[in-house]
Amino acid sequence: MNAADDKTIVREYFNSTGFDRWKRIYGDGEVNKVQLDIRNGHQQTVDSVIGWLKNDGNLAELSICDAGCGVGSLSIPLATEGAKIYASDISEKMVEEGKQRALETLGNAENPTFAVQDLESLSGSYHTVICLDVLIHYPQEKADEMISHLCSLAQSRIILSFAPKTCALTLLKKIGSFFPGPSKTTRAYLHREADVIKILESNGFAIQRKEFTKTRFYFSRILEATRP
Ligand code: SAM
Repeated sequence: MNAADDKTIVREYFNSTGFDRWKRIYGDGEVNKVQLDIRNGHQQTVDSVIGWLKNDGNLAELSICDAGCGVGSLSIPLATEGAKIYASDISEKMVEEGKQRALETLGNAENPTFAVQDLESLSGSYHTVICLDVLIHYPQEKADEMISHLCSLAQSRIILSFAPKTCALTLLKKIGSFFPGPSKTTRAYLHREADVIKILESNGFAIQRKEFTKTRFYFSRILEATRP
């Protein structure tokens, strides 16, 4: 399968069965045990990133690109803290849901701004570019291109999360729970941390902070890298 196919499959998935599944996981309604575990794991990833940014004490001065924003799980709390958020996602349905949730939470449609866009077609320049749990849908070669493009949009900092290759065995279970039954139409790719760091460094960034989220069915390495 080539990368273009990956992208089409991912878009279609997150506009159909994937949308229904992930909207629930990234919500607060009733879910099964596996989905609850993934919900909690993902929330820890989001909380780690928010914790870093709040600690720095300058959120209200920042412009942030949230690439592959999903339903706004990160964008909405960051906008609540006063950052200017540019949220985008390849899936129209995820973006619609994100807009709706932002309106309910924040009561305005100005911040975050939402757009339906493949992250590789994003342009502009942002203080910080963030891309959480998106690379899992792409093989390393494609992920390298995506990371390089995101680096080109970042004035100061990039924050990425991905499923690390070291947890391969345990992750097989997770993949089964990601795409169960007949909706098993997308693949999950693991990435070696060393490969991700190499591509960040080759784009002129240096690693600053790292975090690792691990629950039973959810694994995510978070890296923050800045321009020296
Ligand atoms: N980043 C969000 C979060 O952590 O809450 C969502 C994570 S969800 C597992 C992956 C998201 O990436 C989906 O909403 C999907 O539509 C989006 N996505 C996948 N490929 C993308 C691409 N090439 N450009 C933009 N978004 C993409």
